[in-house]
Amino acid sequence: MEMWYTEVHTDEVKWSIKVNKTIYTDQSVFQKIDIFETNEFGKVMTLDGLMMVNEKDEFIYHDMIVHVSMATNPNIKRVLVIGGGDGGTVRELTRYETIEKIDMVEIDELVVKASIKYLDYTANKLSDERVNLFYEDGIEFVKGLKNEYDLIIVDSTDPIGPGEGLFTTEFYTNCFNALSGDGILVNQKESPYYAHNAREMKRSHDKLKEIFPLHMTYQYHMPSYPSGHWLFGFSSKGLNPIEDLNKDAWNALGLKTKYYNTDLHVGAFMIPNYVKELLNEK
Ligand code: SAM
Repeated sequence: MEMWYTEVHTDEVKWSIKVNKTIYTDQSVFQKIDIFETNEFGKVMTLDGLMMVNEKDEFIYHDMIVHVSMATNPNIKRVLVIGGGDGGTVRELTRYETIEKIDMVEIDELVVKASIKYLDYTANKLSDERVNLFYEDGIEFVKGLKNEYDLIIVDSTDPIGPGEGLFTTEFYTNCFNALSGDGILVNQKESPYYAHNAREMKRSHDKLKEIFPLHMTYQYHMPSYPSGHWLFGFSSKGLNPIEDLNKDAWNALGLKTKYYNTDLHVGAFMIPNYVKELLNEK
């Protein structure tokens, strides 16, 4: 009997992957956690039935959530990751010797434990001596912080359940205050393609535009996410991800990446007209 994992993208669209077997399934206080073994996407983790991470295309997401800001500001030393329970974002950050501290605030300890046990491909650097794990709500964690971090990466689920508060003005303002003078915030910014994702994209965009002197949108192709056209937000207190990019300096680091490169870094910010219109960008 064939087994399939199906994600509902809209009321009219479903997306399925054939599953060989279920490796892990549990219900935490926050969400249902499933890990499947598949031929096409390798090991797949879903939370409440939504695709989170898989072996086949996680490199795209984790390259783009980390290297754009690191190539814009090579002086980043103190990093906060909010969410990121599978460990992939932390894995890419640990490749920079210049980074001194990585605090990862993940609300659900069960996600981290399952990732360490079954998803070594993303969780294999969580034991790096610079990494501090906090099993807390990121919304509470940033309250009252001042000039604590040079980079904050919000690697969250969609704005539902525990993730909802990570898309609010209060949370973004607290992140602004927690950042240093050259601070950068990167946020998971959903997608322009399906209506409900586009609504969340716009919601976070309008708030960040109000709070940060600079807020720009960059895109990446993510086959396993609804429509494949997904975005990150780049917000800063002054640094510009295109004007302040030093290609030669980043390339001299000799970091081997499967998706990111310094040409694509610039191209990712060249967004389609329909997305510009949705975001009221010129
Ligand atoms: N790459 C995935 C994506 O784009 O959907 C997200 C990676 S990671 C699995 C997302 C994590 O955010 C989950 O482990 C979830 O538990 C965590 N999370 C959700 N809300 C949170 C909150 N308020 N504070 C901290 N972590 C949160």
